[in-house]
Amino acid sequence: MSTDEFKSLREEIKQLTGEIIKAAARRRQLARRLGELKRALGVEPVDLDTEAELRAYVTKIAVEEGLDTEVAQRILSILIQDAVSIQQRKEAPRITHMDIFRRAKQLESSGEKIYHLEVGEPDFGAPRHVAETLTWAALHGYAAYGEAKGRPELRRAISEMIRERLGVDVSEEQIVVTPGGRFAVYLAAVSTLKPGDQAIVIDPSWPLYKQVVEAAQARSLILHTRLEDGWRPRLEALNKLLSHNPRAVFINYPNNPTGTTLSRREMKEIIEEVRSADAYLVSDEVYMDYCFTEFTSALEAGYEKTIIINSFSKSWGMTGYRIGYLIANREIADRAARILAQLLTCVPEFIQIAALKAVKDKETPRRYGETIKRRLDIACGELDKMGFPYTKPSGGMYIFPRVGGPNFDSAEFALHLLESTRVAVAPGTTFGNYPEFIRISVGSSEEEIRRGLEILAENIQKLRK
Ligand code: PMP
Repeated sequence: MSTDEFKSLREEIKQLTGEIIKAAARRRQLARRLGELKRALGVEPVDLDTEAELRAYVTKIAVEEGLDTEVAQRILSILIQDAVSIQQRKEAPRITHMDIFRRAKQLESSGEKIYHLEVGEPDFGAPRHVAETLTWAALHGYAAYGEAKGRPELRRAISEMIRERLGVDVSEEQIVVTPGGRFAVYLAAVSTLKPGDQAIVIDPSWPLYKQVVEAAQARSLILHTRLEDGWRPRLEALNKLLSHNPRAVFINYPNNPTGTTLSRREMKEIIEEVRSADAYLVSDEVYMDYCFTEFTSALEAGYEKTIIINSFSKSWGMTGYRIGYLIANREIADRAARILAQLLTCVPEFIQIAALKAVKDKETPRRYGETIKRRLDIACGELDKMGFPYTKPSGGMYIFPRVGGPNFDSAEFALHLLESTRVAVAPGTTFGNYPEFIRISVGSSEEEIRRGLEILAENIQKLRK
């Protein structure tokens, strides 16, 4: 090959790349104009059917032109993301849940008494023998670098607990010990999603799922559920979204914020649909021990692409210990462990030793679960007096009542409530498009919950105006 040819090929590639960029800029202009029209006509910015048509068209052209269809789809994903981000230009909400949490902390640090009905943290703390084991472990040299997946004896103990509780066999190699359930959710996302992928999230949902999907440069497809359906996902709605080939589906039962749990049959039906679509199923089961009907784990369905998220934060009150775990097939577990190793080598050994002590303690999760149930009953009793509609939680540690009608802004309401009565609640907008709802947590003591809700009842009419 002559140097001339080499140079001219480079030049041609450069020119062509420039044309692609110019075409992308033209495409963006058209998308902006289309966005204006959509707004004027009141049409949603995202139309999955149109996207599916476009994807099929791009695959056809790629095949005709001899381009790898995966490469073509990735380019299209970037273009779609660009168009959606222009068209979705939302007005930033005036008040977010973070403003409320920050304000509650601020008031508290200036000496005010706050009724905490907003926190996602039970007030139990770790059992004493677990705390003592932590100190003992640090003093006895359990403070070195360790295996990325976690100490084998802890993974063995988790595997035994799962066999005993759920009758399912998982090997130690399928378990990755993580710094909290939160980190496990992140690992599940980044171990499965590629840029341009889609993942189904069932709203209302803990905000992290959408955040990790975005962090993986993928997009959430939202499956809205309704109070009227007991917050249960409808299979037709799930199937419609599954037809867009998402890479993963996030589920969370018992649920934060609604307290809904699924029956074995419902869980099985959902998993069968996810299995037919060949998507990963990420099942966040951190509220497994706060379940007041029979608990069903997604593991029981035996679907190979299931990823389980679990934590020591709720079952043993070990929120500040930052320890949880993920269970997946070998390939995903290995991938997740590699990412964890890059970021922090391993979960500190003395914390793992404390967790080992906790796993063997079956009494504490039972007791904590009973306490949460009692508190939820009290909170439901108070809410019933106010007449707000909600579904009675069969698990979790929250209640999600509708406290306002159309045009109600729960974030504004939550801030007013905090400012005028010192009762803190989480606005429904934290969990998706639910401005008529608030989330009430029973992480605090019975007295605090009762008093907080009494104050809410005394002020609700005034504040709703
Ligand atoms: N999943 C859900 C649904 C949660 O509500 C929480 C805590 N709020 C977690 C996971 C994570 O808990 P942690 O990181 O403390 O294990």
